[in-house]
Amino acid sequence: MGKPFILVTNDDGYLSPGLLALRKALSPIGEPWILAPDRNWSAASRTRVFHKPLRFSSARLPDGEEVHVTNGAPSDCVLLALLGLAPRRPDLVVAGINMGANIGHDVTYSGTVAAAMEGASAGIPAIAVSLDLGPEGGAEPSPDYEIAAAITARVARLVLARGTALARTLINVNVPRGVPKGVRVTRLGGKIWSDDLVRGQDPRGRDYYWLTGEMLTSPPPGEEDTDVWAVLSGYVSITPLHLDLTAYPMLNDLRQWEDEIRVDDAG
Ligand code: MN
Repeated sequence: MGKPFILVTNDDGYLSPGLLALRKALSPIGEPWILAPDRNWSAASRTRVFHKPLRFSSARLPDGEEVHVTNGAPSDCVLLALLGLAPRRPDLVVAGINMGANIGHDVTYSGTVAAAMEGASAGIPAIAVSLDLGPEGGAEPSPDYEIAAAITARVARLVLARGTALARTLINVNVPRGVPKGVRVTRLGGKIWSDDLVRGQDPRGRDYYWLTGEMLTSPPPGEEDTDVWAVLSGYVSITPLHLDLTAYPMLNDLRQWEDEIRVDDAG
């Protein structure tokens, strides 16, 4: 068997510093093949662009290395690769390193997590990796991306060693700022934004509405087992996720509805 073939993508666009760091860190353990969006798709979630043609072309990373780019969404990158644009079926999908944490309820907005979901949905082990940058953000190369990439490579080795046992599970990795205190395997936390709406008027006198908000900055007490707590406390968080959104605790409770909602009374 040759080196594992690793599909690498992201949602911040191919020029994001995290993509370059990831390719370097994954090269010793496999053959990274990059197909990334040609622009920023952050918060695009799992998107399928099917109302216009997708394009596939080449571009260069800041280090001169050639990569593949598309005008599609992050999840489209994975589909395009699986449907024949990659030279072979990936052994692993890695999405990231996202500029900003993807924890708690935010995972449902994330294009990074969505790209990994696309892999998991197709039965390929997948990792989403994100770096907490705090409220100030950070599109500049930083040593934190190297740390996050090195951690991702270690996770990738472990995922590859498990083979198909993790085929329907995606591993959501979040790396805190600075030097991590350690690693925590966590469950998903809750809402991390206090939402706000800014209203104003554009120069042509039309009202506009801008969705904004403040992100949680301190670890939520009593939620020590969550990804939100771990990242905000300085730990690397590793959360296994799957696409089954069923609320299992409610399943039995709601089963009586099968009798209460009578189809013969309807219409
Ligand atoms: Mn992003």
